[in-house]
Order: sequence, then structure tokens, then C-alpha cells
Amino acid sequence: MSWFKRESSSGAEKKARPENGERRVKTEGLWLKCEGCREIIWKKDLEGNQNVCPKCGAHSRIDAVARLSLLLDGAYEQFDTDLSSADPLQFVDQRSYRERLQSTQEATSLRDALICASGTLDGRRVQMCAMEPKFIGGSMGCVMGEKITRAIERSIAQQMPLIIVSASGGARMQEGAISLMQMAKISAALMRLDEARVPYISVLTDPTTGGVTASLAMLGDLNVAEPGALIGFAGPRVIEQTIRQKLPEGFQRSEFLLKHGILDAVVPRLELKAYISNALRFFRGPVS
Ligand SMILES: [Zn+2]
Repeated sequence: MSWFKRESSSGAEKKARPENGERRVKTEGLWLKCEGCREIIWKKDLEGNQNVCPKCGAHSRIDAVARLSLLLDGAYEQFDTDLSSADPLQFVDQRSYRERLQSTQEATSLRDALICASGTLDGRRVQMCAMEPKFIGGSMGCVMGEKITRAIERSIAQQMPLIIVSASGGARMQEGAISLMQMAKISAALMRLDEARVPYISVLTDPTTGGVTASLAMLGDLNVAEPGALIGFAGPRVIEQTIRQKLPEGFQRSEFLLKHGILDAVVPRLELKAYISNALRFFRGPVS
């Protein structure tokens, strides 16, 4: 085990990210450098603080399992763990989609980029879905669409609030139009949830982009984000090239979006559970 792993190049932010979307915590060493304040932090300190830098408060990404244990009270039941994409287009880019799926499934021990669970949050029973950014960028294909829809249906049937934590690059291009259809499918299911008057809280974390932003992530009764999260539809470079204008500082970050009325709140990770608990008490009254 090395004591400190040097970054592989000085332009660390510019270089292509590995497929698993991991940006900040990628060292086997005991120390790492915060991307927010460039301070050297003991890895255990960072992990003990839910991957929030104890010096500057920068929020590093966490995986879906860590997210569920952060927000739920303890044990939870998982659903649809065996659903896996059938590769409907037989898609091949640099590698075949089938091969990519298989290696990602082995690396993450998940079948797709979402965990759906049911458990309690401050004693209140909820349905919760958390996206896994390490699974092909948390991208949304037919499996994620189906799992979220089933979670919504469970929420309606059991009158149980729904919380979805997004961390996704958007629709999964390897499934083409089928992944885009998930946006309509989930949005329609969310409308039924709304008609059933069951609350849905959308939590947007770094990054929430593309088709996920354009559908479920922005359809919450409350849309709350973690500080500093990248949230948008198209990337800044595409927008700049289209409108031929330089984008303002902090564009597509949580704080900017809150200021411009796109989000309801920006909530630090360590306060998120209490915030959601409070919001659900507002919607549903005290836990009976
Ligand atoms: Zn920091």
C-alpha cells in the first residue's frame, strides 16, 4: 500500500474520466488530495465524513450502497436485483455492449445502475431508489426505467413516499431509443403517483444530466440537490457552441440552479436525511 498516490497528470480535471465515473476517491493510498481545496486529507477522515471534505466541504461521489445506508435507518429490502439488460440493439462501440455490461456487473456486483429498496427513514416507511454512478456512468436504460416504474407502483400500492437519488450521465446510448422511452414511461408513472397523492422527493447529486434531468430528477414534489453538483441537460461545451456565448461562472451547478429557481433547496449530504424526514413530516404528518 502506498502512502500517497500522485495524480497521473497535472491537468487532472481535463483528462478523460474512467468509465466508472469515479473522480475523487481513486487511490489505494492512505492520503488523498481534495479536488475542492487541494488539501491533503487522511482517507479515513473523508470516509468517516461521508466523503465530504472536512476542510472545505466539497462533496465527493458516493456509491448507491453508501447512499442507502446514509439515508435509511438500517436494514432494507431490495427489489428486482436480477433484472439485466438484454442488449436489444446488439450494440457495439469500442466494445460490445454485452461485454461492457458483463465486466461492469462483475466489477460492481450489481446487475444494473440502480438499487431499489424499501426501508424506514426516521421510522417512516419509504421506497428509495439510488443510482450507481460506477455502473456505466449511472446511465438509464430499460432496466433502470422498469425498476423505477415498479418502485413507483409499489409506492402507490402501499401509499409509501418515494425518494429517488439521481447520479447519472443520462440515457444509456447503447440502448438507443429504448433508453429514451424510459423518460416517458417513468414520467407517466410519476403522474399516477401524483394523482394518488403520494409524495416524491428527488435528490440530485453530482452528476445529474441528460435524460435523467429531463425526466424524473426534475419531477419531484421537492427537487433538492447536494452542494456543488453538476446538474444539466446538455453539456456546457455543446451549449456554448450552439448559442455562441460564454456561459456564466458556476453554470449548471446546484447553487446557480437554486438561485435561478430550478431547484427547491441545496442541502449538504450530512443534513440530507434530516431534511427529507422533515419534508415528509410536512407532507404526511408525524409517523404513526
Ligand atoms: Zn477540500
